[in-house]
Amino acid sequence: METFYGSSDRFMKFVTLSPVSNTLYFIANSLFMLEKKIKLEEDIPEKVEVDIFIDLDDEIKSKIETLMNLVVLDVLCEDVEFKLIKKPIKKTRLKFDELSEEHETICLFSGGIDSTLGISKTKEKYGDVLGLFVSHGDLGKITKKVYDLKKIILDPEEIDLIKMIAPAMGKGYSQLRGFLYTLYAMIVSCFCNAKRIIISECGSTMYQPKFAPMDTITYTTNPYVLSSAKKIGELILGREVDIVTPFEDFTKTEMMNLIKDDSILSETHSCISGRWGINCGRCYACIARMIGSVNLELSLDYFKFNTFEEENNMLSSFVNFCFDYLLFKENVDYWSLKNIEIFNKENLFDRTCLDVFIALKKLSNQRNIDMEYSIILEEFVKSNSDRLGLRKKEIETTKEPDFENKVRKLHEDVK
Ligand SMILES: [Zn+2]
Repeated sequence: METFYGSSDRFMKFVTLSPVSNTLYFIANSLFMLEKKIKLEEDIPEKVEVDIFIDLDDEIKSKIETLMNLVVLDVLCEDVEFKLIKKPIKKTRLKFDELSEEHETICLFSGGIDSTLGISKTKEKYGDVLGLFVSHGDLGKITKKVYDLKKIILDPEEIDLIKMIAPAMGKGYSQLRGFLYTLYAMIVSCFCNAKRIIISECGSTMYQPKFAPMDTITYTTNPYVLSSAKKIGELILGREVDIVTPFEDFTKTEMMNLIKDDSILSETHSCISGRWGINCGRCYACIARMIGSVNLELSLDYFKFNTFEEENNMLSSFVNFCFDYLLFKENVDYWSLKNIEIFNKENLFDRTCLDVFIALKKLSNQRNIDMEYSIILEEFVKSNSDRLGLRKKEIETTKEPDFENKVRKLHEDVK
C-alpha cells in the first residue's frame, strides 16, 4: 500500500482552507505522482491510499475509487486499486485574498496558442473570466513566458490570472496532467463559485491518433481523462461543473487563423518539451503549429529547428498517416483510428490532414522540403488537387468557437 502527498509548496497552503478543496488536491496529486512512478518503472503499487478530508458515503467513495482505477487503466494500462481514507484536516489561519472575488468561468491558461486564443474568446463570450495557470516547480522557463504573455494579452483585457503550483513534471511527458489541471480548476471553483471550466485545446490535439502502435500520444485533454476528472470533481463538490471545450472541432490552422499575428504567436509556447522555453519545431505540437504558420503565411523563425528541411520521424509518420487517412482509410490500423471513430471526428481529421498537404505544397513551391515529403505530396496531388483547392478556400473563412461543446459523461455505467 502506498500513499502520495501533495506538494508542500507554500503558495498552495490555501487549499487547506476548505476540506473539499484539500480533498480534490490530494486526489489530483496522487494520480499525477503515481504516473511519474509508473513511468520510471519503479515497483508499481497494486494499492494506493488517498487521504480525503470530507465525509463521503460508501457508495460515492466506491464510485470515486472505481473512476480512479479506470482512468489509470485507460491511459496508463495499469490496474491499481484505490482506497480513500478520511483524515482530519489541519487548521490554518491563512487568508486567501486572491480568490475573494466571484467568477462564474475559469479558463485554463498555459501560454500556448490554444489557451491564449481561448481565454480572449471566453472573455468575449461571458464578459468575465478568471485564468488559471498551473505551474510545475521544475518548468521555470515556461512560467516566465506565461507572465510575459499576461502583460501583452491578459492585462490589457483586464483578465485576472492566478497561479497554482503542481508537483514537478520530471522527465518525460505526463498523460494525466489534464486530470490534474481540471481538478485544480475545481479547487479554484470552491473559492470563486465558478460553474464552468473552459479547456481550449484544439481538436486535432485532443483526439490525436497514434501514428505507430507504440507511440505515446497526448492524453492531456482526451475525453476519457476530462470526463473522469469531471465526474470525480462533481462527486466531491456535490454539484455540477460544466467542462467546455469550444475548440474541439478546430484544426490548428483554423485556430491560428483567429490570431494570425506573429508578434503574439511568437510569444506563445506550445512545445511538449519545456526544456528550452522555446518551441522546438520537432514535436507533434510544434509541427502542427508550423503547418498552421505555413498555411497562413506566418513566420517560422521562432522555432528552434525547421523540421521540413530535415529528417524527422514525427513529421514523417504524420505525413504518411495523412496520406493513408485521406486516400486509404480502410488500410489504417484500428489503434490509430480508435479515438477518431469513437468520438466521430472523421471530418475534423479530413481537414487536419488536408492542412498538412496544403502546407507541404506551399513549401515545395519555395523548394525547401525534404525529398521524402515531396514524393508523397506529388502522389497525393496527382488525383486530389481539387480537394486541396476547396480546403484552401475553407481555411480563409473564419469559424467561431462553439461554447456549447461540453465534455460528456463517459463510464456512465460506474456503480
Ligand atoms: Zn516542440
